[in-house]
Amino acid sequence: MQSLRTRQTGESVSLGKQEYWEESFHRELLTVNTKCSNENCKEVGTMVMHGELHPQNDEADECVYFTPVYINPAPAVFKVEKSYPNDVSMLCRSAFHLFWVDPAACGNKIRAAVERLLDDQGIEKTITDRAGTPQLSKKGYPQPVSLNKRLKAFKTKGKVQSQCFDALDSIRWLGNSSSHVSLDTDKYSVFKSLVILKSVLEAIYLGRKIPDSMDYEVARVNVLYHPDKQRSWPKKI
Ligand SMILES: [Zn+2]
Repeated sequence: MQSLRTRQTGESVSLGKQEYWEESFHRELLTVNTKCSNENCKEVGTMVMHGELHPQNDEADECVYFTPVYINPAPAVFKVEKSYPNDVSMLCRSAFHLFWVDPAACGNKIRAAVERLLDDQGIEKTITDRAGTPQLSKKGYPQPVSLNKRLKAFKTKGKVQSQCFDALDSIRWLGNSSSHVSLDTDKYSVFKSLVILKSVLEAIYLGRKIPDSMDYEVARVNVLYHPDKQRSWPKKI
């Protein structure tokens, strides 16, 4: 990290003039110029963080907690391998970037990556009749098969596919929610979805074993987003 700079936000400065001001209203913006420490890379970038003041209490001294809100170039959450389909790889990179600035949009990209993964796996994406002719909507467009149905079709294709079903289904629920109630999208669940996608891609395209931790990751996303699986908070294994 190089040239670090913090400034109090305008809103925080003006709140400071109010009678009802209290320390916890203090906000800072931190900008950092970064440089990759890998000798072969040395890529430069910028990171922006929001800081919130936590006043002194019995357990801790006063301090400002910073949360990243922008990073460019965004770090890869996982390695995008050459054997992954192009569309999926592009959506992954886009998701890595959006994760910091707009978790709901990131959730949408992850869901879109699942759709393109199913395309690559030969799962029908438009409704056709027995002769293979696409069924058209009133406006004359081919009717899409729902992601729910596509995933069920995928599940029947083999052992690995069936093992990946719950994982991909959890991404479907998170993606649905990201499209409709985007302001509520939980950043940590979105991160879990990226971890889930990573394991699924590795299982399908690299033949790697699905990690034991997958059940927990999936349960962690489902507890907030799957309508039938919100009974209890999962225990970490
Ligand atoms: Zn680098």
